[in-house]
Amino acid sequence: VEQAVEVRTTIRSLPRGLDAQVYTAAEASLLELARMFDPRELARLGRHLREQLTRIDTSPGGDGPANTGSQNGDREGADSGTSPGPAGGPAGNDNQDSGNDNQDSGNGNQDSGDAPADRRGLWITDLPGGSTRITGELDAEAAALLRSALDPLAKPRPADDGTLDPRTPAQRRADALVDLLHRTLATAALPVTGGVRPHLTVTVSWTALLGQGGTPATTSWGQPLPASVLRRLACDATVTRVVFDAASVPLDVGRAHRTAPADLRRAVIARDVCCSFPGCDRPPSWCEVHHVRHWIDGGRTSLDNLVLLCGYHHRLIHHHGWIVRIGHDRRPEFIPPPWVDSDQIPRRNPYSRHTSDLLRAATVA
Ligand SMILES: [Zn+2]
Ligand SMILES: [Zn+2]
Repeated sequence: VEQAVEVRTTIRSLPRGLDAQVYTAAEASLLELARMFDPRELARLGRHLREQLTRIDTSPGGDGPANTGSQNGDREGADSGTSPGPAGGPAGNDNQDSGNDNQDSGNGNQDSGDAPADRRGLWITDLPGGSTRITGELDAEAAALLRSALDPLAKPRPADDGTLDPRTPAQRRADALVDLLHRTLATAALPVTGGVRPHLTVTVSWTALLGQGGTPATTSWGQPLPASVLRRLACDATVTRVVFDAASVPLDVGRAHRTAPADLRRAVIARDVCCSFPGCDRPPSWCEVHHVRHWIDGGRTSLDNLVLLCGYHHRLIHHHGWIVRIGHDRRPEFIPPPWVDSDQIPRRNPYSRHTSDLLRAATVA
């Protein structure tokens, strides 16, 4: 029975827009495999199959497999019938929205002389598991632009004690993209929608926000968000209260409240200089303000309860066992989880110290 569930999950997670033959073949081979493997193995095989069919770039470091010629190679691969779509990527929303897209790229496929720029595309596909797959194709210039934006952000970030960055290259690239988006949306350069800067909008019931159950939070695109992620987002967010009546009609809209007002944010930046995590020097423009004691739990939005953290370390604090507190000198210090340091000795970020403090510390030592 578990195997059957696994087969169904895998089938559902296959990229949309595969042609029926591929679907049937995938299903048949999974059913065949289900006879021989336990659910865990089957899940792995299912992932493998999905990867084959979607051909996500899993190459390390963003350098990709030899890019010269690989575009043509991809196209030929697509012709052989083992691949999903002519565009080489999984069919996404675009394909659903309009059949034309499919046709266009289908024709383009035969005409191998079309310019790389004409083949450009970005597919954003929601998966049943609550995640979203993105794939795409760019011309050389756009790809170079993307790499130069992502590469500096996607570098491995070893801990200050030399522990290697546990993230895979693909995970680092994904984090880099998210960092980039945060930063872009945080600056005012983008056009406004309805007077509010476009940013992540999350809808959540008050009880769910307090962690007391209720309907899970969703993004404005309808994807569910785990409660732990919600807390991190709420750490540094503008919260607008909208009260609905029983028929889901808004009755009352409260004033948007930024949990760390601009002046306070400046004070936090003046104290922490950069991300306050030990060994990190990411500047304030890349950082979020973290509540040491979450405001949801009654923590105050005051200097002694706030620390500056870059997106990566904000995630680390919320999800990976590190504890941050404000020390006796009213500066942040970080207590590693026992699996990082069994003595759990607090650490500080040398980059967060003003030069004069550093020099003073040096003369004392
Ligand atoms: Zn936080
Ligand atoms: Zn950091």
